[in-house]
Amino acid sequence: MDQKSLDQFKKILQARLIELQRSTLQARHEGRIVESNDSKDEGDRAVSSLTKDMLFRQSSQNAAMLNAIKSALGRIENTTFGLCLNCEQEINLSRLKALPWVRYCITCQELMEEQK
Ligand SMILES: [Zn+2]
Repeated sequence: MDQKSLDQFKKILQARLIELQRSTLQARHEGRIVESNDSKDEGDRAVSSLTKDMLFRQSSQNAAMLNAIKSALGRIENTTFGLCLNCEQEINLSRLKALPWVRYCITCQELMEEQK
């Protein structure tokens, strides 16, 4: 992959990283509000535990995504970006454009999903 495309992917990934970090902070902040909102009302408590669940799920998804983005940025640094981590073939460019943090080519991804 040429340097220009690498730079473009780097910019996209960094922007996504910042956005995610911001939303992780936001989720944590909201979680704290929910926790401090210690209501005696059963309905309120049910809502608050649902909200907590949702925030928790969101923050673990965010964490997984953050890791994927960070490792993609790492691969840009060590010039293995765009290569499948399994078969080491180049990942289709349109797949990379849609999901710049993907680790595997479509063939390997499908194989892995079949094995699950
Ligand atoms: Zn592959």
